Amino acid sequence: MRTHDRLRIAIQKSGRLSDPARDLLARAGLSFRESRDRLFCYGESLPIDLLLVRDDDIPGLIAEGACDLGVVGGNVLEEQACERLADGRGEAFRPIRELGFGRCRLSVAVPNDWEWTGPQRLAGLRIATSYPQLMARWLREQGVEATPVMLSGSVEIAPRLGKAEAICDIVSTGGTLMANQLKEVAVILESQALLVAPSQPFGDERAELAAMLLRRLDAVMSVRASKLVLFQAHRDQVAELVKLLPDAETPTVMAIEGQRDQVALQALCRSAMTWQRLEDMKRAGASGLLVLPVEQMLA
Ligand code: ATP
Ligand code: MG
Repeated sequence: MRTHDRLRIAIQKSGRLSDPARDLLARAGLSFRESRDRLFCYGESLPIDLLLVRDDDIPGLIAEGACDLGVVGGNVLEEQACERLADGRGEAFRPIRELGFGRCRLSVAVPNDWEWTGPQRLAGLRIATSYPQLMARWLREQGVEATPVMLSGSVEIAPRLGKAEAICDIVSTGGTLMANQLKEVAVILESQALLVAPSQPFGDERAELAAMLLRRLDAVMSVRASKLVLFQAHRDQVAELVKLLPDAETPTVMAIEGQRDQVALQALCRSAMTWQRLEDMKRAGASGLLVLPVEQMLA
């Protein structure tokens, strides 16, 4: 029987979500007695332990109460939530935070040489997937009847093997599709890693631990998205440049010794500084642009 004065978080043992999940928890101040190869890591800095498992098992472990929180892709979570709904089991888990990593999408792809005229093009055909529930939901919404072919891996080679005409699979860069002469024609679900909790509140010491963890994670994620932007500009161009930084708190404008018209600016931006944005700023008169990551922030 588990004691409920410790919180147990399930993360992927080894795979795409393992390192970013561990990194996020470490940034939130959690440390563990290391045992990467074992199933269980004991929390040293806080009464929060880790369970290292296959990602597909995480929603089930939370539903059974074997774990309190979990980090899992939205694709896996939604598929399993639909499955529970389909077999009449109640809702048992829910996403409580988007974690900003493990981004991908569940998409339909067809052979490159097909002319894509819309979802009806799939009517009566076989579609290979590891996500039968999400695919069936999308096909229903589109009013299309097709035959699902369930495969647990290497879905993208199904058309070449003659097992299916199209596929419905996870895509991030599209490289795998291209290598298999397939093209993406419809996005069924946008996904990223989620923090998942049981649908029912904890009602014991774990509630306080979970609230503290969430406060820390929110702080870590808000710092992570922030960038400090430094640059110089002519005084007359400042107003125009500030318009290009709508997500920044009011920038600090500083005089430069020995220069009357030129000023130095510093702005904390809350979203991505893309190359496009930097080029727009340069065109609007900014020079010496410098974008720095933010390590910690205490408002
Ligand atoms: P496990 O052994 O834990 O079952 P897995 O093979 O199912 O591992 P990974 O390939 O490590 O899982 O992917 C884990 C999650 O990472 C996916 O469910 C998805 O949410 C996310 N992800 C991000 N990009 C991709 C991608 N290009 N292909 C597959 N998954 C991706
Ligand atoms: Mg898996």
